[in-house]
Amino acid sequence: MAVRAAGQIAGICHLYRSSSLGGFRTLSQNVSSSKHTPSNAPETTVDHLIYTPEHFALKESIKKIIDQEINPHVDQWEAEGKFPAHRIFKILGNAGILGVNKPVEYGGLGLDFSYSVAVSEELGNIRCGGIPMAIGVQTDMATPALARFGSHELKTEFLLPSILGDKVACLGVSEVGAGSDVSSIMTKAVREGDEYVINGGKMWTTNGTQADWMCLLANTSDGPPHRNKSLICLPMDLPGVHIARQIDKMGMRSSDTAEVFFDDVRVPSKNVIGQEGMGFTYQMLQFQEERLWAVANTLTTMDIVIQETIDYTRQRKIFKMPVLHHQTVHFRLAELQTEVELLRSLLHRATALFIKGNDVTKLASMAKLKAGRLARELGDSCLQYWGGMGFTNDVLVSRFYRDSRLISIGGGADEVMLGIICKYMDTLPK
Ligand SMILES: Cc1cc2nc3c(=O)[nH]c(=O)nc-3n(C[C@H](O)[C@H](O)[C@H](O)COP(=O)(O)OP(=O)(O)OC[C@H]3O[C@@H](n4cnc5c(N)ncnc54)[C@H](O)[C@@H]3O)c2cc1C
Repeated sequence: MAVRAAGQIAGICHLYRSSSLGGFRTLSQNVSSSKHTPSNAPETTVDHLIYTPEHFALKESIKKIIDQEINPHVDQWEAEGKFPAHRIFKILGNAGILGVNKPVEYGGLGLDFSYSVAVSEELGNIRCGGIPMAIGVQTDMATPALARFGSHELKTEFLLPSILGDKVACLGVSEVGAGSDVSSIMTKAVREGDEYVINGGKMWTTNGTQADWMCLLANTSDGPPHRNKSLICLPMDLPGVHIARQIDKMGMRSSDTAEVFFDDVRVPSKNVIGQEGMGFTYQMLQFQEERLWAVANTLTTMDIVIQETIDYTRQRKIFKMPVLHHQTVHFRLAELQTEVELLRSLLHRATALFIKGNDVTKLASMAKLKAGRLARELGDSCLQYWGGMGFTNDVLVSRFYRDSRLISIGGGADEVMLGIICKYMDTLPK
């Protein structure tokens, strides 16, 4: 495996060709130094618990793309409320980054999930949460069930172009009336001959205004709510698919979030992923990966926010000394960094167990719960130490404060995580 991975990753680095730098220098770049590796960076190429030199080579190639193709434009895309998903996904697809743990047959690198975690951690270097989230939807939320259970025909039509970056995917689970309680979705797909006729709607669809296809969860029968749902590959250009609006959000600004309606949309019955009626189970299965991915993604940004806060408070003087030299500030930053390290250990332990085939639902739920809460604490404390600068839209800390608020809500709210943990602890009332 290591030899094959090394060859593939050398290939990734070879494949990638940088393009123009572009962009402009913002106030945030003037007041904070993002050019150096944080002194608190834990990553090392020797003796890492789960990463090999191949993981680090992969991370390095992603960092180059981020520095050259994404970060110079983030402020503009945040202001515009959308990033060019097709253009960016094509660049990532060319570099092999959209399918590191997907089958080689469909354009993936065939590596294990630890490489996905490494990719996610590295994407945390993007200077906003919206773009990594959009990439995560493509790689670890809309496509895992298709890769595992889809027919060869479906994988050829939808998975392969998504891994190559030729198609943008979205995930249609949540609805206006059903978010935390996925079993109560109302969208129906009624069988008519060799087609399904779909009616209903989806809410909060990341990538929704740009997507070429949706991994749609719909009720395909009137049976019990956990056994009446199917996942369906739905081309977004079919007659009857309406993008009602792009939702205006407090954070994740560069990620487009759509409300979508289906009005008698006809889709071939062969577009069902795996077995009809298994959609709820398939959706729940991929949550372990989705949650670990989300935790990995926030860790790097937390490191950067702490480091930029150190840099800023070291040079900003109040009462004749740097803000950082006040004990309440450097002690608090030390506490936060300690919590980040604890979370990283939990993530890497859960990842190591997962790639050995263990069920890590409990650890993944704990990590996701902790990530959401820590991000809120960290964003709030660090922003405070920037004073008025922290309250501007020009610094990463304020963007992190807004973007990371979603972690406690999306992909299973904190309370949903607590419910799962309680189930494993056998503490729920019978
Ligand atoms: C920016 C953004 C992007 C998103 N992207 C997608 C996407 O691409 N695809 C998709 O399908 N969905 C997406 N979502 C939806 C997201 O997964 C849901 O918002 C989330 O599951 C919560 O559902 P809800 O918003 O309906 O809140 P509700 O289900 O109404 O819950 C409201 C609150 O109730 C509380 N709660 C929940 N369960 C319990 C409980 N058991 N006990 C006590 N309190 C509880 C929680 O505090 C929760 O926040 C996205 C959401 C946002 C905001």
